[in-house]
This record gives sequence, C-alpha cells and structure tokens, in this order.
Amino acid sequence: MVEYAYFNKQFMPVSEAKIGIMTHALHYGTACFEGIRGNWNGDEGKMYLFRVKEHFERLLKNCRILKIGLPYTADELCRLAVELAEMNGYAEDIYIRPLVYKSAQAVGVRLHNLEDDFLMFVVPFGNYLDVEKGCRCCISSWRRIDDTMIPPRAKITGIYVNNAMAKTEAWENGFDEAILLNMDGHVSEGSGENIFIVVDGKLVTPPPSDNILVGITRDTIMTLARQELGIETVERSVDRNELYVVDECFLTGTAAHVTPVVDIDHRMIGDGKVGDITRRLQDLYFDAIKGKNPDYLHWCTPVSRKVLA
Ligand code: PMP
Repeated sequence: MVEYAYFNKQFMPVSEAKIGIMTHALHYGTACFEGIRGNWNGDEGKMYLFRVKEHFERLLKNCRILKIGLPYTADELCRLAVELAEMNGYAEDIYIRPLVYKSAQAVGVRLHNLEDDFLMFVVPFGNYLDVEKGCRCCISSWRRIDDTMIPPRAKITGIYVNNAMAKTEAWENGFDEAILLNMDGHVSEGSGENIFIVVDGKLVTPPPSDNILVGITRDTIMTLARQELGIETVERSVDRNELYVVDECFLTGTAAHVTPVVDIDHRMIGDGKVGDITRRLQDLYFDAIKGKNPDYLHWCTPVSRKVLA
C-alpha cells in the first residue's frame, strides 16, 4: 500500500517526499508541529478527526511566534488533512503530523529572511501510554523550558529536546513518563501531556503561566467534566509534594488520550488503581473522540474511506 504525504504543495507518495540536508529547521529546530488524531469507530466503520480545526488554529498562532507565513486558512488546512486521511485509507487509529518549517537551504541562526514550507503525513497510531492500567511517573531532573527561553505554548520542534531529555531519563530509570517542574519549582506537565489532579472531588491543573503547552485535550477534559459531571477545574499552581497525596491524577494529550497516573516517585496515587473520576472522564472522552456522543459531534470531522479493507 502506498502511503501519501502532503509536500511541496501537493500530495505524493511518502517515499518521494524528501528535504535537503541544508534545511534550516533540521539544524536549528526552527519548525512548529501539530499532532492530530483520527479515531477509528469500528462499529460504524468510520474515521473521525478530533478537533482538527483547533489544532490548525493553534498551528497558525504558533507560526506567528516563529515568523512563518503559512499561506493557508485553518479551513483549508482541515480540508487537506481530511483529504490526506482519505488517500491513506487506514481502518485504525491514526496520527496526522503537520509541520511548518524554515525550509531555506541556509546556514545562520535567525528567524528572519528565510523561506518556509508546510508538510503533513499520517501514521497508524495505537495507544501511547497504558490507558487501562495507568502509568508510573517520576519528577524529572530536567526543568520545563521557560517562556523567557523559548515560548512553551508553541509546539516548536527545538523545544522538544527538553521533553526528550526528560522522557528518556524517566524510561531509563524504569518509569513510563516524566513530569517536569518549571523554573519556579511548580508542576508544569508531562513530556507530551498536560497533568490533572483530583482534590476533594474537584479537578486542578496548572495554568498556562506555569509554562504548559495549552492542550486541546486539556480543554476537552475541562469541558466534559463541567458539562457532563458538573465538576469545575481550578487552574492554579501545583507543588511537587501535593502530587504525592492527591486522590487521583491523570495525563491528557492527543497521543496519550486520558492516561491515569498510578504512581509518582514510587508513591502510590490513591489506592494505586484507576480513580473513579478519571475512569468516568476517560469513558466520556473515548465516546466523544470516536463520534459516539451526538452532543460532541461538532468536535469530530468524518473521513470517508476510498480504499476498503
Ligand atoms: N504538552 C506537551 C509538551 C505536548 O507535546 C502535548 C501534545 N501536543 C500536550 C501537552 C497535550 O496537548 P494536546 O492535548 O493539544 O495534544
């Protein structure tokens, strides 16, 4: 089966989409990306892209930070993503990766006077972390990048060296995921996820000013909690020691979905099992992303399959 990408303003086989060795973004991390999930609904035999427009709106905002002029509107980008998903015709969960990057074949650290370009590809993508049993986390010895260094709200590729340092340290030490503190010592987020805790029946999550990436899944969970469970989310700083004594904790992200955290720094969270509020939010979330809840169909963009299994 040929896999297709969008590259140089056209669809083409992935095997033909190549960039030059002098590409600026490769050397200096001058690119912005998104991660969008297509969720396969086996009952309907249908794929739904989740909150695809919000992802492209975030990408367009982030382009401003990196001084990249992306010559598409969010709606045009959505249409390209749907078309690409259709061309690839997967009958399983997928992950779409759009990337805007400084494509100039040029040496020199800067953002100005460089051409840029846009590409997008699709890969089949199952679970990133264990959503059933939950994950075991550590507090990273690496600190989350500060807004005075590289804007953390932007998904700039160069930032992700910081996340990769934390993830690999965690993994090599026998944990599933890292939780990073910011430069003030407050909890920021996971290496690719936002973090929530449950305190006295309420949800608490760090605010954008604690250098988080303002996640679309984070917003999804806050909305579902409020509308479906009547639970408000308090956005406030969280300290490391508070994590050790919370009732429940979970991570959210396009890749990670809603992943329960059952252990942090070898301290069991709650009774070490998936918490009640976490499970209820997970159920609501999985129904919503697969287009199974009519109240949230506006978040789901259907993809028709051209290639039948
Ligand atoms: N934080 C980081 C560092 C991430 O890379 C991601 C994944 N995009 C998130 C949080 C979660 O964001 P979202 O829910 O929009 O995928």
